[in-house]
Amino acid sequence: RDLPGDPDHGRGARQVVGALYSRVDPSPVSAPRVVAWSPEMARELGLTEADLASSLFAQVFAGNGVLEGMQPWASNYGGHQFGVWAGQLGDGRAISLGEVLTAQGQRWELQLKGAGATPYSRGADGRAVLRSSVREFLCSEAMHHLGVPTTRALSLVATGDLVERDMFYDGHPKDEPGAIVCRVAPSFIRFGNFELPASRGEIDLLRQLVDFTIRRDFPHLHASGETLYADWFGEVCARTASMIAHWMRVGFVHGVMNTDNMSILGLTIDYGPYGWVDDFNPDWTPNTTDAMRRRYRFGQQPNVAWWNLSRLAAAIAPLFGDVAPLQAGLDRYVAQYTAQARRDVAAKLGLVECRDDDVARMETLQQLMQQAEVDMTLLFRALSRVDPHAPQLEPLRHAFYDEAKREAAEADFLRWLDDYAARVREDAQAPEQRLQRMNAANPCYVLRNYLAQEAIDRATQGDYTGIHTLLDVLRHPYEEQPGREHFMQKRPEWARHRAGCSMLSCSS
Ligand code: AMP
Ligand code: MG
Ligand code: MG
Repeated sequence: RDLPGDPDHGRGARQVVGALYSRVDPSPVSAPRVVAWSPEMARELGLTEADLASSLFAQVFAGNGVLEGMQPWASNYGGHQFGVWAGQLGDGRAISLGEVLTAQGQRWELQLKGAGATPYSRGADGRAVLRSSVREFLCSEAMHHLGVPTTRALSLVATGDLVERDMFYDGHPKDEPGAIVCRVAPSFIRFGNFELPASRGEIDLLRQLVDFTIRRDFPHLHASGETLYADWFGEVCARTASMIAHWMRVGFVHGVMNTDNMSILGLTIDYGPYGWVDDFNPDWTPNTTDAMRRRYRFGQQPNVAWWNLSRLAAAIAPLFGDVAPLQAGLDRYVAQYTAQARRDVAAKLGLVECRDDDVARMETLQQLMQQAEVDMTLLFRALSRVDPHAPQLEPLRHAFYDEAKREAAEADFLRWLDDYAARVREDAQAPEQRLQRMNAANPCYVLRNYLAQEAIDRATQGDYTGIHTLLDVLRHPYEEQPGREHFMQKRPEWARHRAGCSMLSCSS
């Protein structure tokens, strides 16, 4: 519906009613160049080195042409943004090329992000800049290797065109190099895909989408009628809980947890102004937009996910005679999150199991870390080096950001370490086993904001090797890699307040 009076009238952008997606082809770019790709994702899709190096690959994954059988589309969804219903949003700059079915029967949807305008672009250009594309490409793969459920990334292609953006609210629009990421997932359907038809009273369309999603992406669910819908919603809740628990384990802050950015498969999706916790602080958020600052803090994420699920529940409620199964699903979220968070407490502290007093022990440690400004990644990684028979602060010293704060907190830390050491000694666990368990839960390499920024700064100068090295490091986040100490250090002082390192705008 191209409505006169609509700000998008005449621009091709429109309200799309009665449909779940629109056919749309990518818009060509002037000089595609493949900057990077994921070897794991390429292998999974059956692409060889020669395929990746071909000019055909660069053309297709820059949106300059489609292969036989591809019928690209953009999907129609809405969402609650910052707690408020935002109406139709849709894929304003994402265009899906098609699906690949591997010999193993795995389904992968290929989606170009930044390949030009769609009916959902709402007056924007449908493009993406290099800096945000590098961040999405690297983080998708980093999260995968950390064992966090996520959409993946196959390729990062520079377009050779410039894109105008108002970066970091300095008020001066600037031309920046454009790029396109090919992201990959079994499905990109979001909570917002269900909310939109529900908001319009298009209940038949809503039911069609639910049935399609269950059939395609949840084929193991076999009940029928409302029981099937209840089982499905319960599983969505459980998967979301698992994803959030992983975020909390590794120190990932999504930054824009709106319902249009929540995957129905419980995958981390839409890498925008995300960030990684350096010094532990549950109040930290990478997002500089004030409206989001409180809502999307690190420590808020488990609550926001629950709230987002409650929006999904409200959207699919018309398919249920009674809301009890929806309430049961939300309860399943809480139960799953709590159980996984407890397993993570045990794993991060190197204990056989998590007792109630271990939850308290973890909370005390986190309070101390926040007070004394201690790096989350470095501290947990180093905790395995504390000798339970002679606990000392020494192995943890390098994780402190501030000498004066460390001195002030030293006595408290030693008291905590004494108690922790006593607790470890109660466990009948071989030291190597404990070490192994801790090192599998506490990564040594995460995509610290400043590391991504260093790679971006170099890429902007035309040197893409920083991206390649960083990707390579992040492929083995739990293994210490000799010669790569640079990537295992705390955030340097210069990066504390620099845009792109500790704060990120939504402009991308
Ligand atoms: P996000 O905050 O990234 O989840 O984006 C919210 C909505 O804005 C989504 O519908 C996006 O497709 C759309 N959007 C963001 N950037 C652009 C852009 N440059 N061109 C068109 N649509 C965009
Ligand atoms: Mg989004
Ligand atoms: Mg986004």
